[in-house]
Amino acid sequence: MAARIDLHTHSTASDGTLSPAELVRAAADAGLDVVALTDHDTTAGWDAAVRALPPRLTLVRGAEISCRWYGVEPAIPLHLLAYLFDPTEPELVAELTRVRAAREVRGERIVALLRADGVDVSWAEILAGAAGGTVGRPHIAQALIRAGLVATTSEAFGPDWLGERYRLPKDDIDVFRALALVRAAGGVPVFAHPRASRRGRIVPDELIVDLAAAGLAGLEADHEDHSPAERAHVRGLAAELGLLVTGSSDFHGTHKTVRLGAYTTDPGAYERIVAAATGVTPVASG
Ligand code: AMP
Ligand code: FE
Ligand code: FE
Ligand code: ZN
Repeated sequence: MAARIDLHTHSTASDGTLSPAELVRAAADAGLDVVALTDHDTTAGWDAAVRALPPRLTLVRGAEISCRWYGVEPAIPLHLLAYLFDPTEPELVAELTRVRAAREVRGERIVALLRADGVDVSWAEILAGAAGGTVGRPHIAQALIRAGLVATTSEAFGPDWLGERYRLPKDDIDVFRALALVRAAGGVPVFAHPRASRRGRIVPDELIVDLAAAGLAGLEADHEDHSPAERAHVRGLAAELGLLVTGSSDFHGTHKTVRLGAYTTDPGAYERIVAAATGVTPVASG
């Protein structure tokens, strides 16, 4: 049977709802052979995931880095998945620390806007909900649910709430700088859900050509936020540019409905990622 490989998941180290230990156990239960832990802007979950690694599961240590392309006004946010990089590389560590702080600044501003409109949510409560993990809008969404203002996370991301009216930019990492830092740390960068237009603005293909020239290794094609046509387009672009293609669930526990292993990556693409990485290795339990 072909290996089942899911290269994009979140734990409580960012905006997922399973702890890193629970996540690797759930990955094994879902029949995965390889899972990547890719929390937003942090490697804080890596060690706990390694310690809890069940038999026959391989863990790929990674992160999903909050980037921005400043080539247009206003700049467009995008996510880079970074795999198997050295988590101690000082410049990368500094940028991740900075962007996590920027998330808190942005979150607190969103809460101030909500409160100015009479919405009774508190920043302290949201920080407590994140429990030390990277804070994101899903944590604000949970506060809106607790306050009875919306019923679901997806409703909280609608235009009346975090999707538009109370949407504020955060101070992300320039995408070309992020690519260079990930490569310098021996990591392998893959553009997450590059055509997810339902989440917001997307970048033009010309930028992806430039990113490929600057060290991008791959494109995530199979993702729930891509339509079949978008998946096909991403595959075509990757073939043209010699980039590898991944598929992944982007699992967030109960913050999203998608299941672990809902989309998977071909073994050949996974092997290319492992072969290109020089930061850390995949971990298999003994
Ligand atoms: P942030 O990183 O704080 O900007 O928040 C973005 C995160 O919110 C993403 O990583 C997803 O976890 C989540 N998210 C974005 N759009 C939606 C949506 N429409 N429904 C549910 N969750 C979403
Ligand atoms: Fe997320
Ligand atoms: Fe993402
Ligand atoms: Zn993600």
